[in-house]
Amino acid sequence: MEKNKRFETDVIHMGYDSGENSGSLVPPLFQSSTFTFANAAQGERRFAGEEEGYIYSRLGNPTVKVLEERMAALEGAEKALAFGSGMAAVSSVLFSIVKAGDHILCSQGVYGCTFGLLQLMKDKFNVDHDFSLMESRESVLQAIRPNTVCIYIETPINPTMRLVDLQMVAEAAKEKGIPVVVDNTFCSPYLQKPLEKGCDVVIHSATKYVCGHGDVIAGLAAGSEEFMSKVAMTTLKDMGGVISPFDAWLLLRGLKTLHVRMDRHCENAEKLAAYLKAHHAVQSVYFPGNPGHPDYSIAKKQMRRPGGLISFTIKGTKENAQAFMDKLKLIKIAVSLGDAETLIQHPATMTHAVVPREDREKMGIDDSLLRLSVGLEAWEDIWGDLEQALSAASEKC
Ligand SMILES: *Cc1c(COP(=O)(O)O)cnc(C)c1O
Repeated sequence: MEKNKRFETDVIHMGYDSGENSGSLVPPLFQSSTFTFANAAQGERRFAGEEEGYIYSRLGNPTVKVLEERMAALEGAEKALAFGSGMAAVSSVLFSIVKAGDHILCSQGVYGCTFGLLQLMKDKFNVDHDFSLMESRESVLQAIRPNTVCIYIETPINPTMRLVDLQMVAEAAKEKGIPVVVDNTFCSPYLQKPLEKGCDVVIHSATKYVCGHGDVIAGLAAGSEEFMSKVAMTTLKDMGGVISPFDAWLLLRGLKTLHVRMDRHCENAEKLAAYLKAHHAVQSVYFPGNPGHPDYSIAKKQMRRPGGLISFTIKGTKENAQAFMDKLKLIKIAVSLGDAETLIQHPATMTHAVVPREDREKMGIDDSLLRLSVGLEAWEDIWGDLEQALSAASEKC
C-alpha cells in the first residue's frame, strides 16, 4: 500500500486492500482461532518461518494485522502490535525491556495500574523505579542511574495534566543509549507523535480515543521493526495478552473517525476549560491549552491541540467534590475517557486510589481534584450541567 498520505486518509485506508478481499469495503472479521495448512510440509515451513502465512491467532490474525499496519502508519512506526488491553501493552513492552536488577525512570505520575505494575515488578522481580518531573535535561541526566534501562513517560500526565518535553528527554536518553517509552493514550496519534520527537516506543490504551465508542478494552504499541518483533515473539506470544479479532474489527471501525472526533473533543474542551476557570466555585483548572498552564509552551511544541481532558479542583473538601459529582445529570460518573459521552471521575478515590496518599500528593492529586473527559455532546449542554452542579455545590461550601 502507498505510504505517506495525510493522516485523515491513512486513518481510513492504511493496511487494507479491498481488492485482495473479494471487494469487501470493510476489512473482514476473521473470527478464527487457528488456520489450516494445505499439507504437513506447509505447516513445517510456516513454523520454521520460511513461508508467510497464519498459524494460530495468538501469533497473528488477518483482521488484527490490518489494525496493526494502520496504527504503525499513524504513529510513523515501522511496526505496531495490538493487545487485549492497554495494561497488556504496557506490561508486554516493559517486561521485554527489563531484567532483575534493572531500573525504570518514570514521569512524575503514571496511570494507576501502571503504578501497580511498577510496584509488582519491584516487589517480585527486583526491578526498581523512580519518578521524576523531567523539567530539564540536567534533571533527566541526573535521575538516570547506571542500571536504568528504560525511561517511561506519560504526557499529559494522568490526571494532573503536566507535560513532559518529549524531544528534550529523547535527546538526553540518546546520550545514554536508553530507550524512551511513551504512553500516548491521552493524545492519540492525531494530537501527538512521540516517535517523531525521537522517542522509541509508543503505547496506547486503545480503549480510549482510538476506539472512541466505549465498547472495547484493548491496547496498542508501536516502534522499530526489531523491538516490536521481539515483543511479538516473546512477551506478547508467551505471556499472551492478545486482542480478539472482533475487538480489532471494532477498533478499525472506531479509528476511521479519530481525526473528526479529536477535533470536536478539543473544541469542546477549550470552551469548557475557559468557563470552568471563570467560575467562582472552581479553585484551579489544569488544561494544557490555558496560557497560564506551566507547560503551555511544551504543549505548543509537541501537541497539535491541547486535548479533550480537563482536570480541576473545586473549592472545599472531598465531600464537596463528591456532592458536586452527585448533582451532575448529563455527565456520567465513570472512569475511562475518550468516549462520545462526557465522563467525570474522582482520581483520589477511583483511578489513583491504589497509590498511597503520600505518593498521590507528590503527584499533585488532592482530594478535591476531578478529571473530566469531555465528550462530543453540544458544549453548551455539557456546560449547563457543570454549571448547575457547581452552583448547587458552592451553596454548601
Ligand atoms: C486506561 C489507561 C491505561 C490502561 O489501559 P486499559 O485498556 O484499561 O488496560 C494505561 N494508560 C493510560 C494513560 C490510560 O488512560
